[in-house]
Amino acid sequence: MRPVFFIIIAVVIVYAVVMIIVTLRKGANSHFVCPKCGHDFQVKGAGYLLSPKTLSSHDVTCPKCGYRGFMEVQKGTK
Ligand SMILES: [Zn+2]
Repeated sequence: MRPVFFIIIAVVIVYAVVMIIVTLRKGANSHFVCPKCGHDFQVKGAGYLLSPKTLSSHDVTCPKCGYRGFMEVQKGTK
């Protein structure tokens, strides 16, 4: 393999790690409000990272009533 391949692979790995860190930090600084019961909760770590998402909402499950659906990401902790 030519050295350029290693550079591309290194850049992709660094980019992936940075995106994971940014997403985890965002998860630690955001919360969700359940549209069904109004419960205010946080989803952190892998649950936040791996949940299906759009630009402003995540497909998460309310820990209180079990409602699952796309909920808007609210800034800040509760
Ligand atoms: Zn709920």
